[in-house]
Amino acid sequence: MFDTFLIKYGEIGVKGKNRYMFEEALVHQIELALRKIDGKFRCSRESGRIYVYCMDDFDYDETVDALQHVFGIVGICPVLVISGDSLDEMSDACIGFLEKTYDAHDQTFKVNCRRAKKSYPISSMEVNSEIGARILDHFPEMKVDVHEPQIMLHVEIRNRVYVYSKVIPGPGGMPVGTNARAMLLLSGGIDSPVAGWMIAKRGVALDAIYFNAPPYTSERAKQKVIDLAKIVARYSGPIRLHIVNFTDIQLYIYEQCPHDELTIIMRRYMMIIAEHFAKEAGDYALVTGESIGQVASQTIQSLFVTNEVCTMPVFRPLIGFDKQDIVDISEKIKAYDTSILPYEDCCTIFVARHPVTKPNLKSIKKSEVNLQEKIDQLLEQAYDSVEIMEID
Ligand code: ATP
Ligand code: MG
Repeated sequence: MFDTFLIKYGEIGVKGKNRYMFEEALVHQIELALRKIDGKFRCSRESGRIYVYCMDDFDYDETVDALQHVFGIVGICPVLVISGDSLDEMSDACIGFLEKTYDAHDQTFKVNCRRAKKSYPISSMEVNSEIGARILDHFPEMKVDVHEPQIMLHVEIRNRVYVYSKVIPGPGGMPVGTNARAMLLLSGGIDSPVAGWMIAKRGVALDAIYFNAPPYTSERAKQKVIDLAKIVARYSGPIRLHIVNFTDIQLYIYEQCPHDELTIIMRRYMMIIAEHFAKEAGDYALVTGESIGQVASQTIQSLFVTNEVCTMPVFRPLIGFDKQDIVDISEKIKAYDTSILPYEDCCTIFVARHPVTKPNLKSIKKSEVNLQEKIDQLLEQAYDSVEIMEID
């Protein structure tokens, strides 16, 4: 198959200096993604275009798959590159391209020439009609349709000539690295990996934090979170996963506070700890998988009380999503099968039978006074005993 790809990227709003940054970051992310697969690749920017050249032994499908994980890419076009730009050479190239790309040759088509090399002596119109005529000669069953062709055959004349027609969809978004970093609260559920994916899609690099509660949660539950971090990292690039031992804090809250308030108080401490590590890691925001009304701790009142301990912005990209919408994305990014593995979560273990759904900030704060004696020391212990893993 083809050994060169033209990379299409979008974000119409990105202009001037930001555009340069966008392209730099995109090339960098493409290089990172291709480094993970076999083969030698060169990614280069040439007058407002990005090309990926595959040098030797590479797997076409694997390469396309790797590129489909790079945010910022809108389309991946397998392209035929030739150095001669005479009408004969270009026509032969187009015929060869059609032969190689399509099994049948009875479609409607249109040749769409672009002369980026302005010194080229023949007008685009002439190139279109000349190449079109030769294609019709060669494939008698093909027809020209200038309005809605089945095959739009692009011929770009630059220092070399590029021929392509297919656009394989990319993930869209912005290249990671164009928008600082954020700390994702990553549980083993369906929602938080999707939330992380959505924020990374806007160009944000991720750190992650997982609250582990051994021995109430198992090694397998922890491994599941590591696996989910790996799935997100295929898109976001490397993630520094912080694994925090939350058991003693949970037990202490359980001992000292009304049980119907447990979840909400626990969530406040999760945010406090997440923010601690976020500051340490140079993050500018926290990210959670919360969505209004999904569970007791995600009513607006609960979110209000949870949010009250945070000084950083908390991004909740799923806030208005229905569960099915979230599941759809989870399946699309291939996280779903891992997310639904049935391992216990730290939150479910100490969950009250009737948790408050409309917590009152004053009464929550009053209950938290009961934690005064030991909570600072327990937080310090949690900070000191963190395990940090580099996920890639
Ligand atoms: P998820 O599917 O992401 O687990 P959920 O529907 O189970 O979410 P909650 O358990 O209320 O909802 O958690 C809400 C959010 O809090 C999660 O999306 C995640 O961002 C964070 N969170 C919950 N539990 C943990 C945990 N053990 N470690 C890290 N973050 C957590
Ligand atoms: Mg959960």
